[in-house]
Amino acid sequence: MLSKLRPNLFLDSVQAIDLRLLRRRGIRGVVLDLDNTLAGWRALQPSHEVATWLKGLRSHNIGAVILSNNSKGRVGDFARSIGVPCIPNARKPRVRGFLQAMQMLGTTPKTTAVIGDQMFTDILGGNRAGFFTILVSPLTREEFIGTKAVRRVEGMVLRHFERQGLQLPTHAG
Ligand SMILES: [Mg+2]
Repeated sequence: MLSKLRPNLFLDSVQAIDLRLLRRRGIRGVVLDLDNTLAGWRALQPSHEVATWLKGLRSHNIGAVILSNNSKGRVGDFARSIGVPCIPNARKPRVRGFLQAMQMLGTTPKTTAVIGDQMFTDILGGNRAGFFTILVSPLTREEFIGTKAVRRVEGMVLRHFERQGLQLPTHAG
C-alpha cells in the first residue's frame, strides 16, 4: 500500500519539471491536477510562469488534460482560459478518471505522467493507473480543512520515503 503513495519524482513546482527529460522518458501526455498545482485554490488563471510552462508542453509535443476533484464550474472555467481539456468531479484517487484522461490524451500508462500536489489523490491514483508520478509542493497553504489534516499524514509518509532515498525539493520540509 505504501509503495503506491511513492512518487517517481518530487519537485518544488511544475516549472521545475524538465520537459525535455520527460520526453526522453517517453512521456507523451500529462494528467494535471488543478488546485495548488497549476493555481491557488481560488485563482481563476495561472500565473505567468505556469502559463509559460503550459506553452512549453505544447512546444514539446506533450498533451495535457486537467483532472480535478473540484466542481465543473471551477474546473471548466479555468481549463477554458488555458485551452486545455478537463475532467471535473474526478473522485481521485479512483482510477477511472485517470484512465479516462489517458484515453483523451491517446497515450498508454507508460507514456503518461500525472502531476499533482497531493499524495493521497494524485499520486495514489496515478500509481494505480501505472503512470509516471510527479509530486509538486502545494502553491499555497489555503485548502480544504480535510486536506490540511491529510497533509500531516502526508508529511510523515514523505519523511519515510526520504529515508528510503526519495529526493526532496530544496524548499520542502
Ligand atoms: Mg491539488
